[in-house]
Amino acid sequence: MEQKTCPAFKKCGSCQMLDLPYKRQLMIKQNRVKRLLSKFAKPEKTVGMKYPYHYRNKVQAAFGSAGGRVISGVYQSSSHKIVPVDRCLLEDVAADKIICEIRKMCPSFKIKPYDEVKETGFLRHVLVRRGFSSGQIMVVLVTAKEPFKSAESFVNELVRRRPDITTVVQNINGGFTSLVLGEKQRVLYGKGYIEDELCGLTFKISPRSFYQINPVQTAVLYNKAIGYANLNGEQTVLDAYCGIGTIGLCAASHAKEVIGVELNADAVNDAKQNAEINGIKNARFFCADAGEFLKETAAEGNRPDVVFMDPPRAGSSKRFLNSLLEIMPQKVVYISCNPETMARDLETLKKGYTVKKLCPVDMFPHTEHTEVVALLEQKENAAE
Ligand code: SAH
Repeated sequence: MEQKTCPAFKKCGSCQMLDLPYKRQLMIKQNRVKRLLSKFAKPEKTVGMKYPYHYRNKVQAAFGSAGGRVISGVYQSSSHKIVPVDRCLLEDVAADKIICEIRKMCPSFKIKPYDEVKETGFLRHVLVRRGFSSGQIMVVLVTAKEPFKSAESFVNELVRRRPDITTVVQNINGGFTSLVLGEKQRVLYGKGYIEDELCGLTFKISPRSFYQINPVQTAVLYNKAIGYANLNGEQTVLDAYCGIGTIGLCAASHAKEVIGVELNADAVNDAKQNAEINGIKNARFFCADAGEFLKETAAEGNRPDVVFMDPPRAGSSKRFLNSLLEIMPQKVVYISCNPETMARDLETLKKGYTVKKLCPVDMFPHTEHTEVVALLEQKENAAE
């Protein structure tokens, strides 16, 4: 495969491995997983991508100014200095073009980029999400203040220039924060969300909901995870840290019942609607901390047969893991985007579980990040 280069490599810091052949990257990731996790089980071969470029369906650009001009790009790692980026080898091509278009339009609409130090200006970030299968595109304009006088004319012109955009949302983030999105938002154009297809189902995705950023590999990952669970239609399945319900809903046709739990209220609403959109009647979703929820489940004497858990980078909580050991579902399928915290959590779970299978899936080519899915089964004597 031809190796590509980027003028912002090293300065931007988003893709730490771009200078290495893809095969070598996969080897490095395999070795890292082996080093961290082979004491639990022998990892299968890392599933790589056929074409590992432009896979990111979500693109976020910070806006700022340099020499009196509007710039957009990424923060240099561990700083708030913006490295200008127009085209990125990892990002969706249409999303990058839209961000450039917005930057070009700023001066004529008198839209000033936000200055974090002086706390002046308006536009902080632009986030673009594109449905890989549906082609629907959502643009989120993250602004420091709410009043947006030229909103209508700006959006009309943007959509005229880029008719592939299906919805535009303004998100207000006035805080001193490194989070991109604020709490408040209003729809400026279209439905305010996009839909995408994944594993044969349709999913509604709101601006603040989590959605996997590499749709091609997400299908690989979910098929692996659901295959590991080996459901036969009789099990009660818990989808913990469920986001918009993707894993649970993809598994629903093989399960008796699916229960999903997720902390982000927008994502839970999406999950409920996603069940409806797809005519899935055996799935319910709850907005709660996964650990709290599982603790209550244990206290009520309810017991899922299979748990899918897909926590954020920090891994799961003591509360969740201890409740899991109390309830002792037959199988746990742990999906992790951080093998270090996964190793820590598996160490806790080994009291009751044996790791039977382990497979890294390359969700983030050219970066140092690695996704791993693991199948845990009750230790033979642990159930008594
Ligand atoms: N399984 C989903 C989402 C995984 S990302 C998917 O594949 O798309 C992790 C999710 O955990 C995010 O949606 C995040 O909002 C949620 N989350 C973070 N902390 C949580 C907690 N303490 N309890 C429940 N959900 C949490």
